Amino acid sequence: MPTQHVTRLAPSPTGALHLGNARTFIINWALARQQGWRIVLRIEDLDGPRIKTDADRQAIHILTWLGLDWDEGPHYQRHDLSRYHHALQTLSDAKQIYPCQCTRKEVAAAQSAPHGDEHELRYPGTCKTASPPDWSLDTAADHTAWRVITPDEPIIFDDLFMGQQSSNPQQIVGDFIVVAKGGLPSYQLAVVVDDAAQGVTQIVRGDDLVRSTPRQLLLYRLLGLPPLPQYTHLPLVLGPDGRRLAKRHGDTRLTAFRDHGVRAERVIGLLARWSGITDEHIEMSAHEFRNAFDLTKLPPHPITYTEQDQAWLTS
Ligand code: GLU
Repeated sequence: MPTQHVTRLAPSPTGALHLGNARTFIINWALARQQGWRIVLRIEDLDGPRIKTDADRQAIHILTWLGLDWDEGPHYQRHDLSRYHHALQTLSDAKQIYPCQCTRKEVAAAQSAPHGDEHELRYPGTCKTASPPDWSLDTAADHTAWRVITPDEPIIFDDLFMGQQSSNPQQIVGDFIVVAKGGLPSYQLAVVVDDAAQGVTQIVRGDDLVRSTPRQLLLYRLLGLPPLPQYTHLPLVLGPDGRRLAKRHGDTRLTAFRDHGVRAERVIGLLARWSGITDEHIEMSAHEFRNAFDLTKLPPHPITYTEQDQAWLTS
């Protein structure tokens, strides 16, 4: 029997979805529906203090408003933490982690997906040498985070859009956090454990996370979790200042457009223009987007959200 390919839509309920998120989601959805992949909706709600009340419901509503659908979920990460603890135990049994007492700020940062313009520090291994040889998970206190021993070697993978990628996570971030103080898993650990548990074979996401992929591949290896997924990292939508689309570029939240009466077809038309489907400003349904989308025509460079785009959306 041929393998059933599975992908996921994985919004973090840390704020409202904006036009850039929408472009990634609709491309992921279109590829899935063109190629018969099963779609899992996963709400990534481990992002500690950044989680906003009701943002999960809003995200689900907006995806539906755009005309996207899924075959399974929503699954919430917080509903069952046991599988992350199990993964931590596996790493601990293999002596691949060590306790870390470093500052709260460093440790807290590990819980969010590190998007491109957020600076990541390289951890110099301070607690690795300081940790007692006989530590155990059970004796660790709440003020302990856990770091994975990261080999100093490049990790190579083939990205379906960007081609072969190689980077050495030890040189970029050092031994990275898998469980933060307080016991919640880091983004890197949670995403691997969930993708494996949910049978995800196709990961489509923004290229600001391409730097995270070698860390995730290392965790697949250490946890003995085959098969590895295939990755497709997509260029981002930027504001006129060249930075990742965000609040600073005005209100690009989909809820704001919707509440001002902008039709979903108008938003999708703009996403189509940004996805190599058309050169013009036209309206389009999600279904039409899916029929027309061709990954080989996707511009390989970031897209800039312009004043003309905004004017067209709100005209
Ligand atoms: N929930 C993550 C985010 O917002 C996506 C993580 C992923 O696709 O691996 O950025």
